Amino acid sequence: MQITSVVPVTVTFPLGREPMSFCFVRLETDDGLVGYGEACDSYGCSYAGVLAEVITQAYAPLLIGRDIVAVEPLADRLRLSTRRRLGDQWVATQARSAVEIALWDLVAQAAGRSVSQLLGQVRDRVAVYASSTFLDEGPAQFHADLLAPLLERGVRMAKVRVGPDWQQDLRTLTELRGLLDDDIALMVDGSETFTLPTAVEIAARLGELGVRWFEEPIPQGARAAIATLSARSAVPIAYGEHLYGREDVLGALTHDGISVLQPDVSISGGIAESRAIAGLASYYGARIVPHVCAGPISLAGNVALAASVHAIRAIEYPLSLIPAWEALGVGPPLGLAGIQDGSLAVPSVPGLGVRLAEDVAARYPYQVPGARVAGTVGGLPDRFVGDR
Ligand SMILES: [Mg+2]
Repeated sequence: MQITSVVPVTVTFPLGREPMSFCFVRLETDDGLVGYGEACDSYGCSYAGVLAEVITQAYAPLLIGRDIVAVEPLADRLRLSTRRRLGDQWVATQARSAVEIALWDLVAQAAGRSVSQLLGQVRDRVAVYASSTFLDEGPAQFHADLLAPLLERGVRMAKVRVGPDWQQDLRTLTELRGLLDDDIALMVDGSETFTLPTAVEIAARLGELGVRWFEEPIPQGARAAIATLSARSAVPIAYGEHLYGREDVLGALTHDGISVLQPDVSISGGIAESRAIAGLASYYGARIVPHVCAGPISLAGNVALAASVHAIRAIEYPLSLIPAWEALGVGPPLGLAGIQDGSLAVPSVPGLGVRLAEDVAARYPYQVPGARVAGTVGGLPDRFVGDR
């Protein structure tokens, strides 16, 4: 089986709060198989056109005409061939992740098995946690109402976001805690907003509320500050959606004291790299809870990861992305209809189990973001600048 084409598919899809871009890739083989992958930059893929060029210019020529027997030799070839020119973090790794997922889709289809079966499936369903919005977007009841459809379907974990107005956000969070059943675990995402002193203060308050983790409180590059925070924080500190491969993760575990790791198959180098990361995390006593924040192929890839690693008990499930999954995914229901007992079924058909609806994707061509900053509605908000 030889690879005959590697084609990126870029999309900008209208969602309730703002349009989001996605970067998919379609691989074809000489025996007629089609495999899909998807990259993520932590929030969809804002500069999908940039990643598409990396795929087309750097990775496609290394794959076309190659035999596919196993995924990892080909994924290694992509990394080793480009590492000294494009680096092995950020854009290069995100784009390579998309290709790696598509290779798994192809190899599994050729084997007549699902990707998770090929990896060693350990569960039939993968629990999800509700990943919700910024606390400053409404009062506690607004947030409880947003979460209700998932909680009614058995989801028992929910994450909300604190921003620059963190004192008010913490009041809202306290009230929200009171509105939810005691058995609902709450997590908080800081979106890399805070300075160290503020993060330490917030972490103490989160400890009083029994919050399960404080995610990306400080900009991810401020490694010394993260290490200090981890040592002082009353709650576990979570990072991972900006970690690229095992070397990066080893630093986060040994130096930064991260105790919740959030790899994402669409970011960290692919499914095999994320499994290796999960293996490392276990040795350091860290929890592994994969990040998910892109389209249906990325979700399916992370489901396959979670289905094949005992230590992964749940993955992220951003409520705002449900319309994109439903429109752009072909396969089992990925939206609310797919959630039972707080979990998604692991597909058992050959391959990844979810394909890209290319006819739908073609109706939403990629738009270069220009000066628009993804994750905002009106421009650059305080939360991307830092606290006061
Ligand atoms: Mg996050």
